[in-house]
Amino acid sequence: MSSLRFQALQSVATGEEKKISGYGDKKITSIFGNNVFTGRIMREHLSDEAYKSLMNSAKTGTRVDRRMADQVAAGMKAWAESHGVTHFTHWFQPLTGTTAEKHDSFFTIKSDGSALEIFDGDALIQQEPDASSFPNGGIRATFEARGYTAWDPSSPAFIMEAGSGKTLCIPTIFIAYNGESLDYKAPLLKSIAALNNAAVDVCNYFDKNVTKVTATLGWEQEYFVIDETIANARPDLMMCGRTLLGHAPAKGQQLEDHYFGSIPERVYAFMQDFEQESYKLGIPLRTRHNEVAPAQFECAPIFEECNIAVDHNTLLMDVMNKVAKRHKLKALLHEKPFAGVNGSGKHNNWSLATDTGVNLLSPGKTPRTNLMFLTFFVNAIKAVHDHANLLRGSIASANNDHRLGANEAPPAIMSVYIGKYLTEVLDEVETRVTEKFSEQDEQILKLDIHKQIPELLMDNTDRNRTSPFAFTGNKFEFRAVGSSANCASPMIVLNTIMTETLKQFKKDVDLLIDKGEKKEIAVLQVLRDYIAKSKKIRFEGDNYSDEWAEEAKRRGLDNFKTTPEALDAFVTEGSKQLFYDNGIYSKRELEARHEIMLEDYVKKVQIEARIIGYMATNHVLPAAVGYQNVLIENVRGLKDLGLDKKTFKAQLNLVEVISNHIQNLNDNVEAMLEARKKANEITDMHARALKYCHEVKSYFEKIRYHADKLELLVDDKQWPLPKYRELLFIR
Ligand code: ADP
Ligand code: MG
Repeated sequence: MSSLRFQALQSVATGEEKKISGYGDKKITSIFGNNVFTGRIMREHLSDEAYKSLMNSAKTGTRVDRRMADQVAAGMKAWAESHGVTHFTHWFQPLTGTTAEKHDSFFTIKSDGSALEIFDGDALIQQEPDASSFPNGGIRATFEARGYTAWDPSSPAFIMEAGSGKTLCIPTIFIAYNGESLDYKAPLLKSIAALNNAAVDVCNYFDKNVTKVTATLGWEQEYFVIDETIANARPDLMMCGRTLLGHAPAKGQQLEDHYFGSIPERVYAFMQDFEQESYKLGIPLRTRHNEVAPAQFECAPIFEECNIAVDHNTLLMDVMNKVAKRHKLKALLHEKPFAGVNGSGKHNNWSLATDTGVNLLSPGKTPRTNLMFLTFFVNAIKAVHDHANLLRGSIASANNDHRLGANEAPPAIMSVYIGKYLTEVLDEVETRVTEKFSEQDEQILKLDIHKQIPELLMDNTDRNRTSPFAFTGNKFEFRAVGSSANCASPMIVLNTIMTETLKQFKKDVDLLIDKGEKKEIAVLQVLRDYIAKSKKIRFEGDNYSDEWAEEAKRRGLDNFKTTPEALDAFVTEGSKQLFYDNGIYSKRELEARHEIMLEDYVKKVQIEARIIGYMATNHVLPAAVGYQNVLIENVRGLKDLGLDKKTFKAQLNLVEVISNHIQNLNDNVEAMLEARKKANEITDMHARALKYCHEVKSYFEKIRYHADKLELLVDDKQWPLPKYRELLFIR
């Protein structure tokens, strides 16, 4: 029987292309949001009273009252049924990293035996999924394993289609019986609310009309697309989403011929298909293109309110996985699917928008609005400076460890890039603003800064692609986020540290105002102070360079290269206080989350260890031994013919080389098993994670080295695992 590898290659060679009609003459606007319970649809299906109540809740984040909820539920049900929906689900984002659904049908039977379809306010507002197996970090013992999902009216309900089935999805938070959060959304909403309060207070120094500030997020999603059948012939891709073995192909990304090149037709069909599904769900995708690595692509939407953008990104990842199957493709969202080939990230573009229509990180048109811009800009830098380790922790994962600092993604050292012009502006404020108010301050405020800032608008090309946190004209771009991550994780931290900084800023400014200082001057003086204090986090040079690692060390910036170490930032006394003070996490919740993240790390490495061990033993070894036997047979035959040893020197040598690799492979697999056993005996999760990180994982490289050497030696026909060239270049 031929191996799965050859069956897969055969099937690709003879398989039929999935034909899709593309967009035809459909305009995107004709499908956009068709599966979403949008404001317009609400108007059609809800009474005036219910509509207003729901809109108000969405805007203010307050509860919808019970009576109204009944009306909203009835309206939602009518709309959903008109689309052929039979089931509903509370859709939530547990800490497993994916999304969760438990479908219930509208269908029910009354006590008199009659059947009917029901969806009432109770079902809309709250559900109790049997969710005892979701990670909870010890928050819930099994006897109290009750988790509740509760409706988030600020994110619209939508219809998810799978095959011919359609389900009404209600975005919800997921919390324990005592209110502790068990998901990403609950703390995200809290961080958005906290930031709103702090930012409005500061905005009001400049504009009394501002009553709401929203964090905005525009993500850019990188991913790989490969043939599904070929991928499924590899246990590592199937089980871990990345290759654990595999020799680099002769041609990698060194020619850089893939970047912005034309998109292969089969992938193009997939893109058009998942875009259409996304549009129906209201995800405003805008761009698509090839990325640097072969088989790597990117898509990005128009930015949205942070909460909705996070929902949309998790939805998109789900949609991509599902739609890829239709095309017999596999979308790899893993941060590092292939060694020696660039990994995937998810840039998080973040800014703040007021209800008066102002982007607070966009330079203004008047001296006053420019001072407002400068205020939020400097506060953001100060926030990153003061809490860099939390930001680093927020993007830590077993997957992302492969990327950060690998000369393809920003390093694990957090720093902020602001560009030449803004550096000059900040220098100006730092050096020229005086202790006590003077004419000079007024001059700086009214003229100099204002004169300089508009130039920024033309400065958009001056970008530093190596910075983990870069200002790009009207937003900050957090580039170190992993491609499979839930954006909520970095957003919760970013919103929270910004909240904390703005609150302190207000205190500092008010103090000066109370002392009789003029408001604008007080603002300027505190900004000067913040600029000076946060200077060490600013870096304009090449973040990929070794010099920067050294320079950062001199500056006292941390460089946590691994997840278990990076996660420590969450459980310092300072962090616990910070999250508690801003109403995001109780100390217990934070500790639980830390535990969950460590556990997640351990599990990921553990699974990889199992799979790499399995592949080495069950795939690589038999292939190597098989080929070695062929060589031995050959040598024996030549000997029988009475030929001189010289004639089979090469074969003999190969037999020996293969033996060496087999031995080494085997020894390392056994040593890894031992290390794993020891690690599993450790009960403290932090210590166990460290053991997995520094010991168990250290065998991966060694095993891989010998397996990849064997791949180069063994007869291609006998090699059972699809090779890198087949994974990356067959479409
Ligand atoms: P690139 O990094 O590829 O050069 P662009 O400048 O085109 O990207 O924008 C990248 C992303 O930034 C897009 O997803 C866009 O929606 C987002 N973005 C633009 N303005 C904002 C904003 N005010 N807040 C958040 N995201 C934004
Ligand atoms: Mg970008």
